[in-house]
Amino acid sequence: MATPGQKVVLITGCSSGIGLWIAVLLAKDEQQRYYVIATMRNLQKKERLLEAVGEAYGKTLSLLTLDVCSDQSVSECIKSIKDRHIDILINNAGVGLVSPVECVSMEEVRSVFETNVFGVIRMIKAVVPDMKKRRAGHIIVISSTMGLQGVVFNDVYAASKFAVEGFCESLAVQLLKFNIRVSMIEPGPVHTDFEVKMIEQVSQKDYPECDAETLHYFKNVYLPASVDVFQTLGQTPQQIAMSTKQVMETQRPRFRSLTNPLYTPLVALKMADESGDLSVRSLHHLLFNLGGVMKFSMNMLKCLTCVCLRSRTVAPD
Ligand code: NAD
Repeated sequence: MATPGQKVVLITGCSSGIGLWIAVLLAKDEQQRYYVIATMRNLQKKERLLEAVGEAYGKTLSLLTLDVCSDQSVSECIKSIKDRHIDILINNAGVGLVSPVECVSMEEVRSVFETNVFGVIRMIKAVVPDMKKRRAGHIIVISSTMGLQGVVFNDVYAASKFAVEGFCESLAVQLLKFNIRVSMIEPGPVHTDFEVKMIEQVSQKDYPECDAETLHYFKNVYLPASVDVFQTLGQTPQQIAMSTKQVMETQRPRFRSLTNPLYTPLVALKMADESGDLSVRSLHHLLFNLGGVMKFSMNMLKCLTCVCLRSRTVAPD
């Protein structure tokens, strides 16, 4: 149980990736400022988290079952928390989907929205009344750069993250009146099971509805470029956990945090031209006409961001 002065943090989707590492970082806080309620759909998947969190389990971290897609699961989880007291809610649970849209069933579209959008709304609805009564609270959402800028073949996933951005941007205004902050964390690519699941998803699926030309662009142009982008620009889940903790610990937590500065120009491109054509046409040109240049730029970036080069250019002290 939380001790007086400790902040109670509830995190969704802690069996892997970003959620797991946020839970570990907060539970291992040297000053023990946080009491982490790490939640996951299936507690049988707790081993990776328990191994990473070590002795903090049972002291600054406890586990609860929670499926963000179920009203009953959310309500039971929140009810089981002492006084329903949650200082910080971190909405991390999420699923991805890459595919030409004509090969995606409406059931798959609904399932992505059920987790990434309705799951977040369900969680926020459950905690906001108590936060309002206490006139304190912080709601954090692990969104994505794809909540600000669409990416080819990620149409459904990007739509779900855009939806959550719109929801939170609107809600943040009202909640400020109750001293409740809302913060969006917007990572680019991150090396987690998310990336692994994406590759598995594509390799296991047939695309009978897809015409040969689209399938060629998807499999032979987009996917290799996507793998390159992950390899070159990908962050670790620990880095995202650090960025999230930093946002939590500033006195006036910012609304929006792009964790990867290399993505700032991509978002700026969209804002720079009100017609929207600049970003659509530039991204099209980059992928379909300048594939070679893109590969070259990625390799250049790989060299420039390479650890051995960095260690040579950054003074040891
Ligand atoms: P991940 O697959 O390792 O983690 C997602 C977690 O959400 C898993 O533990 C999964 O079990 C859980 N989850 C899924 N559906 C759930 C449900 N209904 N209820 C409860 N938990 C559920 O991937 P990750 O990269 O750690 O993803 C975490 C968040 O980060 C997601 O919201 C994702 O959209 C976002 N994100 C990821 C990347 C990336 O490249 N990995 C980039 C930007 C944003």
